[in-house]
Amino acid sequence: MSRYWSPVVGTLSPYVPGEQPKLQDLVKLNTNEHPAGPSPKVLQAIRNACDDSLRLYPDPGSDRLRQAIAANFRVQPDQVFVGNGSDEVLAHAFQALLKHDRPLRFPDITYSFYPVYCGLYQIAYQTVPLTEEFCIDVQDYLPAAGEAGGIILPNPNAPTGRALPLADIERIVAANPDIVVVVDEAYVDFGAESAVDLVARHDNLLVIQTLSKSRSLAGLRVGFAIGSRVLIEALERVKNSFNSYPIDRLAEAGAVAALEDTAYFERTRQAVIATRARLTADLQALGFEVLPSAANFVFARHPHHDGAALAAALRERSIIVRHFRQARIDQFLRITVGTEVQCGRLVEALKNILAG
Ligand SMILES: *Cc1c(COP(=O)(O)O)cnc(C)c1O
Repeated sequence: MSRYWSPVVGTLSPYVPGEQPKLQDLVKLNTNEHPAGPSPKVLQAIRNACDDSLRLYPDPGSDRLRQAIAANFRVQPDQVFVGNGSDEVLAHAFQALLKHDRPLRFPDITYSFYPVYCGLYQIAYQTVPLTEEFCIDVQDYLPAAGEAGGIILPNPNAPTGRALPLADIERIVAANPDIVVVVDEAYVDFGAESAVDLVARHDNLLVIQTLSKSRSLAGLRVGFAIGSRVLIEALERVKNSFNSYPIDRLAEAGAVAALEDTAYFERTRQAVIATRARLTADLQALGFEVLPSAANFVFARHPHHDGAALAAALRERSIIVRHFRQARIDQFLRITVGTEVQCGRLVEALKNILAG
């Protein structure tokens, strides 16, 4: 604390991202980056955008990008909002749509940035325990479970990887027409059903996606939301009171190219899905319990080996996975689906550690 700080700053518990070590030759399976690089067309588009025009501000409305997203998802450009990573889109949604007198509701085990935004924007919240099997119970998000001021759920959930069927998402959205339901689809392309098509029927639904995971562009920082015009207008009002230019010229060029290269997207996401199946089987063969994953990571625990100890032993072998010191999940490892070679090294290392 310092007397120079505004009062809220001392109360914050900031989000701690997975580390980005500066070491070479690590098997880095801790932050759910895509093992394939971005499409070569993305890299070319960014190179092409590298010219004198960088002296000019980018388009504050990111019209080209919003049109590309709209075309991809068959919505109107004015139903699309873009931001500097979906974390920024989420932040604006918390401030613009989820801060109300009644508490925001989300699962006890979920993306750990949600309570951080609540702290920053002073939003009251209520967490709802996942079931014993780490599933979201739809009943907990129907109005009978209590008055919520808003709902936010990742689908698939993080860090469990478990997905809700679209019909369950629609039940939640339809049962809560007077509050906003945000569905954070950071991992949806790896095996869950997107709720974007429901936006046409439900004004209270905001779907958020990112190019960081399934489009291999975590370094470019582009995320977006799709929703009804009223919801998008709220996000625009906050954004234009905060930063007029969240998407720079290079990011817009690269993001448009990524959305246009559907062949590359399909090929690389199918490769991750295939590797996930092999990794899951290999971990199960070593005795791990692996939650069914619809994401580009698996969440696994071993009945006889402590999660923190396993993560530390892997680190000694230059393999980094994510471990959360949080009640209920402190025995789990969250392992990003890497290349076949990376996953092979992980499985070999675990074999040695377990043989111990
Ligand atoms: C990775 C992730 C995000 C944020 O991604 P950006 O890189 O900021 O677009 C949002 N939500 C969840 C659940 C994530 O795992």
